[in-house]
Amino acid sequence: MSDKKKDQGRLPEWAPEKADSKFASRVVPGVKAQDKVTTENVRARQHQVQYDLDHLYKGILASDRTILAKAITLIESNSQKHFNQAQELVRMLIPHSGNSIRIGITGVPGAGKSTFIETLGTWLIGQGHKVTVLAIDPSSSISKGSILGDKTRMEKLSRSDNSFIRPSPSSGVLGGVARKTRETIIACEAAGYDVILIETVGVGQSEVTVRSIVDFFLLLQITGAGDDLQGIKKGIMELADLIVVNKADGENLTKAQSNASEIKQVLHYLQPATKGWITTAITCSALTGHNIPEIWKIITDFTETIKASGVFEQRRTEQNIQWLDSMLMEALSNLFFSNKELNEHYLSLKQKVLLGETTPAVATNELIDLYKK
Ligand code: GDP
Repeated sequence: MSDKKKDQGRLPEWAPEKADSKFASRVVPGVKAQDKVTTENVRARQHQVQYDLDHLYKGILASDRTILAKAITLIESNSQKHFNQAQELVRMLIPHSGNSIRIGITGVPGAGKSTFIETLGTWLIGQGHKVTVLAIDPSSSISKGSILGDKTRMEKLSRSDNSFIRPSPSSGVLGGVARKTRETIIACEAAGYDVILIETVGVGQSEVTVRSIVDFFLLLQITGAGDDLQGIKKGIMELADLIVVNKADGENLTKAQSNASEIKQVLHYLQPATKGWITTAITCSALTGHNIPEIWKIITDFTETIKASGVFEQRRTEQNIQWLDSMLMEALSNLFFSNKELNEHYLSLKQKVLLGETTPAVATNELIDLYKK
C-alpha cells in the first residue's frame, strides 16, 4: 500500500479514543494551500527570476522582440541583484547602440499624441524604419497602469513587425523612470530600432526630463477656444524644436493655420531649444496624415544640420553626464533608504517637522550624522 493510501485510512486526531474500524471519518490528504497572492509575493517572485545575460544579449542583437521585452523587464526591476545584471547587460549593449534619432513628443491629454504616434510611426515603417514607442509617466504605478504608450491606443502600429511599444516603467520616482528609459533606449537601439519615440504628458516636470533624454523635442498643440497662445507655457515652448498644431482638418483647418502663424511670431522672441536650429511651427492632422511627411522632413533636416555642426554629439555627451548625475543621486538615495534604522528615523523626523517640533534643516543634519555613523 502506498503511503498516501495508508494515510487515507488514518483516523483523524479529533476521533474519540474508543473509535474502531467502523468509525466513518478518515484523513483524506488535501492539496497544500497556496500562498496568498499579494503584491509583496509577486514582487518577491519577480526578484527571484533568473536572467541569462548572454541569451538576452544575443536575442537583442538578433532583434527578437520577446527577448527585448524580457531585457526591459530586467532593466525595470527594483531588485539590487537585477540592477547589477541590468547594468552589465547595458554595458554589453552600448557599443551596438546610438544609431537612432530619439524624439520626445509632448502635449496635453487629448492633443492627439497617441493618434499622431500611430500615424507617424506607421508612415515611418512604410519608409523602411523600425520604430520604438516608449513613455515617461512619473505618476504611473503597478496598480494604476499607464495611460501612455498603451498598445490599444496604437492598434495599427502595434501590429507591425517593425514596431516595439512599451508603456512607462512603473516607479514613483522620476529619476528612476528616466534612468530606466535611458537604458531601455540602449536596448532598443541595439535591437535595430532607428526611430525612438518617447511620449509624455504635458504637465511640467516630465518634459524637462524627456528633453534631457532626446535629440529632438516636439510639442503637439491644439487650437482651442479663446486665446490659444496663452495656453502654451513659455517654458515648454523653449524646450521644443518643433511645434505641431494638430487637428488641422475639416472646419478646424483655417483656425489651426492661423494658430501656427501666431506661434511662429512668438517663437521669434524666444530662446531656441537647440543651438543652430530655429524652432518653427507647422499644422498637421494625425487623423488624415496631412503634413506627416513634411514633419519628418523637418526632423531629418534638423538631424543633418546639428550633426554637421557637432551639436548632436555634444548634446548626447552632455546627456551622458546628466545620466551619471541622476544615477549617482538614485544610488545615494537607495543606499540611504535601504537602511532600516535611517528609514525609521527619517519617518519619525518627518512627523516632527509636520508638527513643527523641529525644522527641516535640523532634521537633515541629524539624519546625515546618523548616516555617517
Ligand atoms: P492624447 O491623449 O494626446 O494621446 O490624444 P488622442 O490621440 O487619444 O486623441 C484625442 C482625441 O482627438 C481622439 O478622439 C482622437 O480621435 C482625436 N484626434 C487626434 N488627432 C486628431 C486629428 O488630427 N484630427 C481630429 N479631427 N481629431 C483628432
